[in-house]
Amino acid sequence: MPELPDVELYKRHLDATCLGLTIRHVVVGDARILADVSATELAHRLEGARINASRRHGKHLLVDLGAPGWLTLHFGMNGSLEHFTDGEDDPPYDRVRFDFADGHHLAYVNPRLLGRVGLAPDADAFVAAEGLGPDALDLRFDLATFERSLGGRRRDVKSLLMDQKVVAGIGNIYSDEILFQARLNPRTRCDRLDAGMRQCLFSRIKEVLETAIASGAGAERLVDRLPGLFLIPHREKGGRCPRCDGEITSAKFSGRTAYYCPRCQPEAS
Ligand SMILES: [Zn+2]
Repeated sequence: MPELPDVELYKRHLDATCLGLTIRHVVVGDARILADVSATELAHRLEGARINASRRHGKHLLVDLGAPGWLTLHFGMNGSLEHFTDGEDDPPYDRVRFDFADGHHLAYVNPRLLGRVGLAPDADAFVAAEGLGPDALDLRFDLATFERSLGGRRRDVKSLLMDQKVVAGIGNIYSDEILFQARLNPRTRCDRLDAGMRQCLFSRIKEVLETAIASGAGAERLVDRLPGLFLIPHREKGGRCPRCDGEITSAKFSGRTAYYCPRCQPEAS
């Protein structure tokens, strides 16, 4: 499921392959993926536009196309972005395809149709309209900002980390990893974190996301390249903790399954 590190890798892939290219043709394979724009309008507005720049905010990839505005891409449960040099190459579940003047094309792939492709007049306006909090890796997301978002909340820390309005980019998988690295139980209440725990949690947010990006650069499957002491490769029923070899357990949080080590991340008494 694409979270901040995965989308950052899509951004770097897009920047490396498509910056400066002019869109010649847009093919919408399935219009159900489009947000507030018809297939005809999307094609009409994008044809002839140039890929000027890109920006990532949380799990969203935003592409500056000049006059037509910004293309907004969200990848849902298992979407991805793939670039092809041969026009004949067409992956399955290619929902929107951007053909460039040089014969290359970019495919927005999304098997389960749970993402979104749209147009926005401006990137900042899009972020505001979506109600997104600061990007987790943005320098403006600092310890003071994080502490303000925790302040006095009775909710559990796992749900808070996944709340895109608090901090954008962290989902079910990376919140598990961050809590594992911080040795915090996912049920820990935000208002029970002391200053040391808040500082530790904040540092782990940045470290885990940066490590994942660095490990995954250029990789097909990010998970296989994560450091040995990461929980993610062991995040499954029957998995063993990479630190203590104890059995990983799971619990439901807001409908999502969290994995953690009950020995390394004990519940506060
Ligand atoms: Zn453990």
